[in-house]
Amino acid sequence: MSSNLEITKNCLCCGKEYTAKTLTTRYCSHDCNRRHYKKIKREEKISNFTQLQANPDQPAPIQSDILLQQKQFLSIDETAQLIGASRRTIQRLISSNKLHVSKVGSRTIITRKAIDYLFYFSGI
Ligand SMILES: [Zn+2]
Repeated sequence: MSSNLEITKNCLCCGKEYTAKTLTTRYCSHDCNRRHYKKIKREEKISNFTQLQANPDQPAPIQSDILLQQKQFLSIDETAQLIGASRRTIQRLISSNKLHVSKVGSRTIITRKAIDYLFYFSGI
C-alpha cells in the first residue's frame, strides 16, 4: 500500500487534520488509532449490555459474547467467535505468526492481549 499519495484527512479520533499516505489511514497517529479502537469496543460492550437488559428473556448469544470478551485466555474456537472470523482464519494467522499462541498440552491457548495486539498492528 505504499505510494506517493498525500491526502489531507481529519483524524477519526481527535478530529485533527493530518496528511495520510494511504487511502485507508483513518487516524493521525498510532495513539489515536488505539484510543479510538478502545472507545469503539467500550461502546460495543455497553450496547450489548443495554440489549441484554432490554430483553431479559433472550438467553445465550449476547451474554456469552460478553463472557468471551472478558476472558483472558481463549481457545481457537472462542477467538474465532469473538472476532467474527472462521477457525481457518485464526489458524492462518497463527501459522503466519501474526497471532501468538501458547500450547498447554495439546490445547492451543490464545491470550486476550495477543488478540488486541493483532488489531493494534493491523491498523484498524
Ligand atoms: Zn488523532
